[in-house]
This record gives sequence, structure tokens and C-alpha cells, in this order.
Amino acid sequence: MKPEIRIGYGWDSHEFKRGIPLRVGGMTLPHPKGLGGHSDGDVLLHALTDALLGAVAAPDIGTLFSPSDPRWKGADSALFLGEALKRVRAAGYAVVNVDATLILAAPKIGPHAAALRAHVAELLEISAECVGLKAKTPEGMGTDNAAIAHAVVLLKKTPPSLRAAKGLKNSSPA
Ligand SMILES: [Zn+2]
Repeated sequence: MKPEIRIGYGWDSHEFKRGIPLRVGGMTLPHPKGLGGHSDGDVLLHALTDALLGAVAAPDIGTLFSPSDPRWKGADSALFLGEALKRVRAAGYAVVNVDATLILAAPKIGPHAAALRAHVAELLEISAECVGLKAKTPEGMGTDNAAIAHAVVLLKKTPPSLRAAKGLKNSSPA
């Protein structure tokens, strides 16, 4: 029998590079440097994607979207998150909430936190109050030129009524 709830965890890091846009949480933040990588380098969406995939024991982001595949060159990472969300739903689960921590020296995330939470909530199709986002500076870690993201996600089994609404027969009452 499927567990009622499942937890997922994801982690990612990317190096800052001059002259490219800084993409975080599916948004472009004003900053002289962006995060390098094969895709758009969105460290937060990558950590969230891996958390969703891990929660349903699916292959990780690097396996599904190989950095050596030209299809993902410069790709919008929202696409990766969308695929992970699809796999969560196909497995019979819905996202309850997510919580993420960004670790970076600059720029300050505070002024963008509300917009980021709202945008990530929109991508995950949950309410912004179910998206936790903290930002820390990497004190004493010697990682000023990198951004790191950690994310956890909680899933719950899709209620039978919802499954029925999607046309799945023989769902037993809760
Ligand atoms: Zn990444």
C-alpha cells in the first residue's frame, strides 16, 4: 500500500559568472553575475526538482535532464520542475508544502523573497503560504562565488475524490 505522506530532499550548487542573467526560483534578479550551468543555472528550482523527484523515488534531475544533452542548453528550469511535478501526480501524490534555504553572499534575497515565494508557489500550483524560503550568507565557508540551495518537500496521497474526478475508477472510500 502506498504511504499517505512522503518526504523529499534536494540540494544543488552553481558558480557565479559575469555577464549572464541571475535566475533564481524562475525569476531574473538584478545582479552583475548569474549562475553558470548547462541550463539557466537556477539553483533553487534544481533543488526543488530533485526534492520532488526524490519524494517519489524517481531518477534525479541529472539523470532525467543530462547536462551533456544539447536539448537542455540554456533551458528554463521551470521545465524541469514541471516534469517533476508531473511525475509526482502520476505517482498519485500532491504537494503539501516545500521549504528551501538559499546560501549565497549576494545579492540580498530579502527584497525579492515575497515575489520568489509567490512565483515558486505558482510553478508548484500551491499557495504561497505553503512555500518556505530562507536566505543565508555563507559565513566562513569560502563559497562567496557560489550559490547553494537546499529544499525539502512534503507530499500527500491524492484524495480518492480527486482521483475519481480525473476519471480513475474503483477508488475506495477514504
Ligand atoms: Zn543545478
